Amino acid sequence: MIQDLELIKKEIKYDKTLNCVQCGYCLPVCPTYITMGKETHSPRGRINLVKMVGEGKMTDLSIMEEPMDLCLGCRACETACPTGVQYGEILEGARSVMKKSKKSPMLQTILLSKVIPSHKMMEQAGNAFWLYEKSGMQTMLRKSGLLDKLPAHLGTFESIIPAAVSPKERARFPKRVQMESPGVMAQTGTDQNGEKREKKYTVAFFTGCIMDAMFRRINQLSVELLAKAGCEVVMMENQTCCGALHAHTGDMKESKKLAKQNIAAFEKENVDFIVNNAGGCGAMLKEYDRLLEDEPEWLERAKEFTEKNKDISEVLVLCGGIPVINHPPEKVTYQRSCHMTNVQKVKIEPVQLIKSIPNVELIEMNEGDMCCGSAGIYNIVNYEASMEILDRKMGNVKDTLATTILTTNPGCLLQMKLGVKREGLTQKVRVLHLVEFLAEAAGVSSW
Ligand code: SF4
Ligand code: SF4
Repeated sequence: MIQDLELIKKEIKYDKTLNCVQCGYCLPVCPTYITMGKETHSPRGRINLVKMVGEGKMTDLSIMEEPMDLCLGCRACETACPTGVQYGEILEGARSVMKKSKKSPMLQTILLSKVIPSHKMMEQAGNAFWLYEKSGMQTMLRKSGLLDKLPAHLGTFESIIPAAVSPKERARFPKRVQMESPGVMAQTGTDQNGEKREKKYTVAFFTGCIMDAMFRRINQLSVELLAKAGCEVVMMENQTCCGALHAHTGDMKESKKLAKQNIAAFEKENVDFIVNNAGGCGAMLKEYDRLLEDEPEWLERAKEFTEKNKDISEVLVLCGGIPVINHPPEKVTYQRSCHMTNVQKVKIEPVQLIKSIPNVELIEMNEGDMCCGSAGIYNIVNYEASMEILDRKMGNVKDTLATTILTTNPGCLLQMKLGVKREGLTQKVRVLHLVEFLAEAAGVSSW
């Protein structure tokens, strides 16, 4: 129940709901409205609920719970809205208010506040998974069928987790990688004939938490690709999780704390760009100025940080593309990351890079901009709703007849793998991060 209406009004971003003219242009792009067919599960309906709370017409916050919990936060509605309603802020505000009125599950709290922000704990988690895989326990448990009995469909998700990187390989992640030179590890800034090459940019690489623990190989390939394209790559110490998962669950306090830690960590080196390879993280990093707008002592620093942030595809295009070696003929389709499209507004560069590879045919899928249903931990906490959205997505993927699905976000990558598995296409269709595909074409391998 509501205690102080003025306070709630501010936190719930009531003022922003007034920009909604209820036109409904956002309805055809909202995945939950399309699959669930309810006004309360549309952007317009959700905004209305928040507005009623702000006006004191609805005092029982639990009425907002299901519509807000089932929102993917994909922000396709923002892109479609003719009046520029900032739905992402309204959603964050509503979740933040709801979070105060109910207790979060213990496991979620521990994961978000203790494990994910800790580089050490994420390293240990990555190493533990490698041990689980290499010790034979994974094979044994998969064969026993015990994993299928785990709650919240965790067994299903276990089956699509990528192969882990060994502790020895983890320890080899360098502090600084210079421009491409002969050999696997770029160090000298010379080309294959031993001649000096001009450096294009100095960039700092944002490793992320999940990307670094579970997708370390993609991070390695990203660094190698950047070096090959002419960048000097610096790895900043003390960087941490971007805070997106926290913001999406309404924990704005923790999200701000992590943002400040990242800003302070990346200020230590004067680089041209701060580069990331995950659509969701990139969107969060690019909104640190908005996140910290009420904190004058941080705002300027946040703006500087935000301006330098780029997705890897943007930087590779600025470098003049990737030096392609060769690629066998292949039909690919590209599943856009919602946050890369709707928040970062990075649409052209990934397509440009894919099209630059000879022999590769890019076939755009229908509803290509629509969310795949992954949305952070949405597919775990709202499994059925997520699978309904995924099945629709897979129908569109199958129509393309592509044998490779490319994505630019770890959540989308796992979700598309799950989709391929559900369709029984594991032997015919592969799912790759765009970086893996570009590395393949440029003859770059991880170390
Ligand atoms: S498109 Fe914008 S103004 Fe129209 S209903 Fe949706 S959020 Fe409101
Ligand atoms: S964020 Fe996505 S799921 Fe949520 S209301 Fe907007 S379009 Fe619908």
